[in-house]
Amino acid sequence: MSETQRIDVSRFVRNVATKKGWVLNQDPDFLASLIEGLEANLLRLGYLQCPCRLSWDDPKKDKDIICPCIYAGEDIAQYGHCFCSLYLSEEFARSASEPASIPERRPEHLFP
Ligand code: SF4
Repeated sequence: MSETQRIDVSRFVRNVATKKGWVLNQDPDFLASLIEGLEANLLRLGYLQCPCRLSWDDPKKDKDIICPCIYAGEDIAQYGHCFCSLYLSEEFARSASEPASIPERRPEHLFP
C-alpha cells in the first residue's frame, strides 16, 4: 500500500477545514458519503480526486480537482460552499442554509 492510501480521509478533511477556516458539511450522512467517495477514489486512483467530478484517471490531468480542488476557495467565497458542498464558509454554516447546486468552475476543456 502506498503512502497516499494510508491517509485517514476523515482526519484529512477535518484538518483542511481547520487550516483554511472552512467548516465541513453539517449533514452527517452527506458528509460520510463524500468521505466514502474520496476514500474510494484514493483506493482506485491513488489520489484524492473530487468525489463529484469525472476523472481522467491521471493525476496530472486531474491535478486541479484533487481535494481540496483549486476552485474551492473561489466557490466558497462566492457561494458559501465548494462544488460538492464538502466545505462551507463559516458564515454559510452559521446561516443554516442548505447548500444548492452551483455552476461548475472547472473549464470545459479540462473535462474528460
Ligand atoms: S469541490 Fe469540494 S469536495 Fe470536490 S475537490 Fe473541491 S473541495 Fe474537494
